Amino acid sequence: MERTFILFKPDCVQRRLVGRILARFEDKGLNVVAMKMLTITPELSRQHYAEHVQKGWYPTLEAFITGGPVVAAVLEGLEAIRVVREMLGATTGLNAAAGTIRGDYSSSRQMNLVHGSDGAEAAKREIALYFKPEELVDYQPTITKWMRAADEG
Ligand code: ADP
Ligand code: MG
Repeated sequence: MERTFILFKPDCVQRRLVGRILARFEDKGLNVVAMKMLTITPELSRQHYAEHVQKGWYPTLEAFITGGPVVAAVLEGLEAIRVVREMLGATTGLNAAAGTIRGDYSSSRQMNLVHGSDGAEAAKREIALYFKPEELVDYQPTITKWMRAADEG
């Protein structure tokens, strides 16, 4: 089992798409193990997007991501990091394949609705940035036995 961090960005909250997009992850078989609403501060933005802080477009990203409430969550499932990234689609909504979240709901490079960790190291770092260990809930949904065969992990 693997855990990944997702963030419903301010455009997602304002467009009232959180419920519909969360349902896609639930439908896929991913478990929500933590979730909360917050407003990202400039400091948290710089930590989250540390790899982009030096880029010329970072100020517009910071203004966007701090510009309204977000919903942060941790999803758990087999190969959850890769599965979520593939469900999100390419960064720019205009280029993202139809059927992906960004492909279906976004026409923007910046306002692409949902963030997902891009690897194991990022997932670990981002989960710790937004959640205390005791905010992650361990449980096994009773329906698990009808979601995949016992020998699949
Ligand atoms: P991803 O979220 O797909 O991993 P990146 O790591 O490249 O994408 O970028 C982080 C986020 O910054 C993007 O999801 C998007 O919201 C925003 N972004 C990416 N490129 C630009 C850009 N050129 N100008 C403004 N914002 C951008
Ligand atoms: Mg990225």
